[in-house]
Amino acid sequence: MTTLGARLQDVLARIARAAQQHSRDPAKVLLLAVSKTWPAASVAELAAAGQRAFGESYVQEGVDKITALRSLRLDWHFIGSLQSNKTRIVAESFDWVHSVDRLRIAQRLSEQRPDSLPPLSVCLQVNISGEATKGGVSLAAAPTLAQAVAALPRLRLRGLMAVPAPSGDFMTQRQPFRCLRELSERLQADGLQLDTLSMGMSHDLEAAIAEGATLVRVGTAIFGERNTA
Ligand SMILES: *Cc1c(COP(=O)(O)O)cnc(C)c1O
Repeated sequence: MTTLGARLQDVLARIARAAQQHSRDPAKVLLLAVSKTWPAASVAELAAAGQRAFGESYVQEGVDKITALRSLRLDWHFIGSLQSNKTRIVAESFDWVHSVDRLRIAQRLSEQRPDSLPPLSVCLQVNISGEATKGGVSLAAAPTLAQAVAALPRLRLRGLMAVPAPSGDFMTQRQPFRCLRELSERLQADGLQLDTLSMGMSHDLEAAIAEGATLVRVGTAIFGERNTA
């Protein structure tokens, strides 16, 4: 087994263990391998080891990999912050966008999603801790945005995503994830059909799974430390 294949198995084992500890079905927690800054060859290596879903944060870098690896038929998720001048290429290239946080972006993605493709799956990014520097709709504004996004014809609202401030303490990690789950439950009570809670990364995936994550976004634990030059 290659190094990347072995790290993938380690992360899948962490997911399975956390799911079991919290009485959840491990099959209900999807692993998104966050391949930003890593080359297409590394993605291909993980695909050969069975990984299907990959996450990218930078539009052009992601599109280059999608193009290079087209024949592998992988699932590509855009998880970075999205400017309006980049929505068309994202709508044409990706299967999912996790970072929708304003209506204008959602409208453009819906208008620009090609008819030849299925509706684009989207999550609303929610700024749980109210950090001014972070993307995401506020908790207070999320219900109105969710209803508006759910009504757009070429999008399918799948759920919510968050990137809480890092913490080394398990109970502190769980708190914002619980908050996101409770928001999702309120939206479902209001009639929205949501099936995705995109939460948890390399350092806090166990806490996210404890609070109901259905998709964890993991980069470093699979690929190693990124070069943030
Ligand atoms: C980079 C990134 C991740 C992966 O983070 P790791 O700590 O490397 O696992 C997850 N989600 C988002 C939104 C990211 O930008």
